[in-house]
Amino acid sequence: MEKLHALKTFLNRPQKVVILTHFKPDADALGSSLGLAGFLTKKGHKVQVITPSDFPLFLAWMPGSHEVLALSKNSTEPFKKAEEAINKATLIFCLDFSSLGRINELGDLVTKAKAKKVMIDHHLEPENFADFIKWDTKAASTAGLVFELIKELDEESLIDENIANCLYSGLMTDTGGFRHSNTTQKEFQIASDLVGFGADPSAVARQIYDNNTIERLRLVGYVLNEKLKILPEYNTAYITLSEEELKKYGSQTGDTEGLVNWGLSIKGIKFAVILYDRKEEIKLSFRSIGDFNVNELARKHFEGGGHKNASGGSSKLTLENTLTKFLEVLPLYKDQLN
Ligand code: 5GP
Ligand code: MN
Repeated sequence: MEKLHALKTFLNRPQKVVILTHFKPDADALGSSLGLAGFLTKKGHKVQVITPSDFPLFLAWMPGSHEVLALSKNSTEPFKKAEEAINKATLIFCLDFSSLGRINELGDLVTKAKAKKVMIDHHLEPENFADFIKWDTKAASTAGLVFELIKELDEESLIDENIANCLYSGLMTDTGGFRHSNTTQKEFQIASDLVGFGADPSAVARQIYDNNTIERLRLVGYVLNEKLKILPEYNTAYITLSEEELKKYGSQTGDTEGLVNWGLSIKGIKFAVILYDRKEEIKLSFRSIGDFNVNELARKHFEGGGHKNASGGSSKLTLENTLTKFLEVLPLYKDQLN
């Protein structure tokens, strides 16, 4: 990391730290945040993790998750607290995102805040708002980058099993269980080190992957049976889910996560998409195999972004019209998909 020495000097005095991560945080977003929070707390800093929305219940086991200040649609109280914490902070960490739009209305507060800002991220095309930057698009996970930073600070000895489990979660999920093309020797090295510091791979995998409600499994069944569509001429699979369908299956935050991967598991499919109604907007998740760049597609057509093989976006149109738009965009990529 550039300016490591300056950051180190800063961290040698007690700071008021705020850690922010993106809207609807996944295991990497929350795991890297709580891992870093655990570390900084042990170093004697006062730390508040803030999320712009709620997070999935299957992440509630993470040590420190109960102290997270999660903004809510139903109450302005957490926002006021977040505003106060951000204004008082001396150091703000932004984890697993690099465009301020990903934290909604908190973005303005960060821009105005007097605190020094640290961005740690692995997404493409970052905005330039931070004083300290640890950014690497080759890194499979932000959690891995947090681990590297702790090492660069020569403070690995502070990593305990709670911190290790949080960081291991981000690494495990952002590599799709060490299966995606971002899984390199380095990822296994970090995983191995984290296990050395007390991470429990089996326990983490069970908490995250084997924590389904029966309603969620029924939703998977319904999606596979009735909602997964194939467009053979584009080697593409897509799924749509309306608000009514999600409601029927008692869907909660996180229940749609991973559904898109079923499309990619079909032989020959190179591009998989899910479109679902999040009430305030239609959310899209894109996944691809090989050279097809879904970051570019999400950025250009759906106000989103992410990585080459995994990205997301949103739309203010209805679900039907978003699907129509998607089906109109697809032919632009026909050559790349064949
Ligand atoms: P997911 O589809 O699992 O929500 O996200 C896949 C990847 O794309 C993640 O790295 C996520 O941070 C990123 N991503 C998802 N939605 C958006 C979005 O609306 N905007 C941007 N810039 N990135 C997104
Ligand atoms: Mn990530």
